[in-house]
Amino acid sequence: MTNTNQVFTEEICYPNNVKKYDLSKPPVKQSKTAVRFTRLFSKVLLPLLREGHKIEKINMDGLKPPYILLSNHMQWMDFPVLFDATYPERVNLVAANHVYYKDYALLEKLGCMCTRKFTTDIGLVRNCHRVLQDYGDIFAMFPEARYTPDGTQSVLPEAIGKLAKKNNVPVVILLNHGNFLNQPFWSHYKFRKVPFYATLKQVISAEDIQKLSVEEINQIIRDEFQYDEYKWQKDNNILITEKYRAHGLHKILYQCPHCMAEGKTTSNGTQLMCNACGKSWEMTELGELIAVNGETEFSHIPDWYAWQRENVRNELLSGNYKYYDEVQVYGFPGVDKYYNLGKATVTHDLDNGFVITGQYNGSNYRISRGVKSHYSLHIEYEFGHLKGVDCFEVPTKNDSIYCIPTEKYMVTKLSLATEEAYKIANE
Ligand SMILES: [Zn+2]
Repeated sequence: MTNTNQVFTEEICYPNNVKKYDLSKPPVKQSKTAVRFTRLFSKVLLPLLREGHKIEKINMDGLKPPYILLSNHMQWMDFPVLFDATYPERVNLVAANHVYYKDYALLEKLGCMCTRKFTTDIGLVRNCHRVLQDYGDIFAMFPEARYTPDGTQSVLPEAIGKLAKKNNVPVVILLNHGNFLNQPFWSHYKFRKVPFYATLKQVISAEDIQKLSVEEINQIIRDEFQYDEYKWQKDNNILITEKYRAHGLHKILYQCPHCMAEGKTTSNGTQLMCNACGKSWEMTELGELIAVNGETEFSHIPDWYAWQRENVRNELLSGNYKYYDEVQVYGFPGVDKYYNLGKATVTHDLDNGFVITGQYNGSNYRISRGVKSHYSLHIEYEFGHLKGVDCFEVPTKNDSIYCIPTEKYMVTKLSLATEEAYKIANE
């Protein structure tokens, strides 16, 4: 594929006519039409949830923008919930570059701000200041920067505390419940009948933000952001009766706790199975897993997921973790086109993070992303932009490199390995 004596570039050499997109472009202040449009968007979509939706406001009396709004992220219906919760105020929302794909003109008009996930984005810091200080509006973001895989909190960026402190504004959290159970990330084309419930809560007031340190702000945000959708389901006795309720669950539960095989699980109907040892588990209407025969290792899905995380962490710590694969690669430098870059080799380990080596447009490239600069990984299951593949994205300053691994389950394992490697490297 590549010759070791050759020269490598650190970015993909695209043709000269490639269309870039300025991610630091300042957002527009929302017009009355934009506010009405997002209102209409919510009013049309939310009633489709026949099981109902409710937003409870806590400590919000008298609170007016500017403030920072943080929301947990479970599926695309989080957007109408957010606009419904904040109406009639103006909101500038951060959206990932892949959300802008083909729709950038509309998103710009609505006041969205574009960012590349899991990169240091100085432009976004400036835009946050602009929204809060110049426009006096709501700066809204999904700080997990990904749909929750197992219905619990994902890693939050430390930079939020700094943003809040620097701008000296209140912090509000929109915590969604039900959205994940309705359309789990691992089965996002199939709906389950689940009611939506969200709280919109001011967690740090204008007065408190002045007294608190950045670390204290981050701690409050982490504490208030806690959620566990399977616990919420049980606490509220929500029955998911769909006969396909376990469909796709193997995407996040890739390791068998009985025989330890990886990538051999599969799912169908209401069951999860391991093709290596034959063990199977029934997913109950309350979202628990029960072994069909023998011991139930983990009845709570997030516990199984956390166990896999611990295994990956031990693999990293013992020096046994090293990912190598030949993958199909796509580049997404702008917002209008995914470029087929052909095949490339990808490695991931604790020393070097991600290294992608390949050849495109007559040039060899070697793209690396160090462990310490990459606290989480953007992954997609059945990604609509790339013909329904499971893939992961390695971001650089100017590009998003989408990789389709040979083994689908590696998408999930790599996301755990990225997060654990980051923690280990920073300990
Ligand atoms: Zn097994």
